[in-house]
Amino acid sequence: MSDIAQLRNDFVTLNQSIEGNPLVYLDSGATSQKPQVVINEINHFYSKNNANVHRGLHTLSERVTSQYEGVREKLAQFLGVFATELVWTSGATHSINLVASGLTNQLRYDDVILITALEHHANIVPWQQLAQRTGAKLKVIPVNDQGIICTNNVLAQIQKWQPKIFACTHASNTLGNILDVQVFIAQAKKIGATTIIDGAQAFLHLRPNLRQLDCDFYVLSAHKALGPTGLGILFGKYEQLNALPVYQTGGEMIETVTFDQTTFRQAPAKFEPGTPNISAVLGFGAAIDYLSNINFSAMHKYEQSLFKYLLEHLSAIKGVKLYGDLDNNIGTISFTFKSEHHYDLAMLLNSYGVAVRSGHHCTQPLMQALNLNGTIRVSLAFYNNHTDIDRFISALNNCIQLIEG
Ligand code: PMP
Repeated sequence: MSDIAQLRNDFVTLNQSIEGNPLVYLDSGATSQKPQVVINEINHFYSKNNANVHRGLHTLSERVTSQYEGVREKLAQFLGVFATELVWTSGATHSINLVASGLTNQLRYDDVILITALEHHANIVPWQQLAQRTGAKLKVIPVNDQGIICTNNVLAQIQKWQPKIFACTHASNTLGNILDVQVFIAQAKKIGATTIIDGAQAFLHLRPNLRQLDCDFYVLSAHKALGPTGLGILFGKYEQLNALPVYQTGGEMIETVTFDQTTFRQAPAKFEPGTPNISAVLGFGAAIDYLSNINFSAMHKYEQSLFKYLLEHLSAIKGVKLYGDLDNNIGTISFTFKSEHHYDLAMLLNSYGVAVRSGHHCTQPLMQALNLNGTIRVSLAFYNNHTDIDRFISALNNCIQLIEG
């Protein structure tokens, strides 16, 4: 067993039975499992250190504030940026909304916001609403029948539409496709567009260096990268970030308040009103430590070999149709089986202990483009192993036998 395969032992949730069968967790795209160190850290905070941050002079508050800000520093290092460029939010959805709202005054009637057909609703609806508020136009780069967007097409569409805003996922949550965002960003910058990359799915599998990517904004959800739920990150290049107007207002993000007027602090504090999700930040800090101790290229190789094994076995089943870019993928595959409803198949798989996601995966426009009402999605992480895939394939074959009598 490789060193990476050993890491599975750190994820106690995986060690249980569902419906009398060993759990086969293939839904990391929805949320990742958490290593024990993350759970321990949250436990430790509430049992030993619980206090609010940035408020007290007492020992507990000072201790927690320093840990909390330490996680921001740690994450900044991990992403290759400055801590002042990272805002804690409640999730990738919140992060995108903050930017879309903040860019309102920068858009004029008929300006173009360009996105791709692969986007999650979280990276569609805020832009659509922004377009409706401002009279801007939302334009979409289409996918082909397989759900693939080729790099040259994106570059051509950027050239054609000359967007003011270019918002694009780093990896598709439904199909797993990895997009060549660094090349897109360079092209979008040439025409002066603001670039926002949705890294919710990519972060865990690709570990991007954001300075190298050179996007203006990048968003993440901690829960998809071994961290707790209810915590997101917004990266923004400092000047652009600080230029956004305040989003929500309240305590801690202010300099002075009178009944007539308020002055606000600089980023990131100006976007962090109220008591933050302290335990989640500390838990995510443990997740970043954990990830930092894993050799990335070994992890990537392991995930890719698992994915290849999955594809080999899945594509060998008659009647299974696979979607997406199979060669350039974070380890997530969507498939259909003949005309079988995805919901029925997912329910049947659950009776074998197999957790997959079914439906439109918050990408209804993509489903329409592919002429589908939904798919089954299998999404892998480094804590999966070949036995998981064998069990899944065997369960799927059993389900098919049941369906076909
Ligand atoms: N973007 C992508 C690509 C996603 O997969 C998700 C979550 N499924 C989101 C955005 C939204 O993330 P959250 O629900 O954590 O805000």
